[in-house]
Amino acid sequence: MVPEEKPQDREKGLWWFQLKVWSMAVVSILLLSVCFTVSSVDWSCCPTPWTSFQSSCYFISTGMQSWTKSQKNCSVMGADLVVINTREEQDFIIQNLKRNSSYFLGLSDPGGRRHWQWVDQTPYNENVTFWHSGEPNNLDERCAIINFRSSEEWGWNDIHCHVPQKSICKMKKIYI
Ligand code: CA
Repeated sequence: MVPEEKPQDREKGLWWFQLKVWSMAVVSILLLSVCFTVSSVDWSCCPTPWTSFQSSCYFISTGMQSWTKSQKNCSVMGADLVVINTREEQDFIIQNLKRNSSYFLGLSDPGGRRHWQWVDQTPYNENVTFWHSGEPNNLDERCAIINFRSSEEWGWNDIHCHVPQKSICKMKKIYI
């Protein structure tokens, strides 16, 4: 036997429907309002004040935190610590960095056995790395930063993970 629908259930159903419609409207408006540039070609954008390069958005976090906390800080924003896949990408990123600061990358060697791992599981490719000369140099330094050395400009260095640094977050662009 099919139970008869009570009038208050119908009302409840209507209320939920209206809530859903309004929620979708609010989310759409929020999504549009966070976009400071919408490419007319692919309708993608990055939230303010993230910067855009190819299909990703980048955010420089100037708070000084350990590597683990820096990664957590990115992840609550729906991002990860930055994974650098090409020279062009690194050249873009360094435009927004300060020469007297260091920034955590999404690259670590948790076991101290020089098995470098990117946070997004991108395979570590020795041929696309930009270590400063002589780096990485210490098995106890298990997290990578990017910084500026006057002799060789921007490059990577392995440092102790608990030493607070600035960091760079990266996420996929939003497509609308
Ligand atoms: Ca080092």
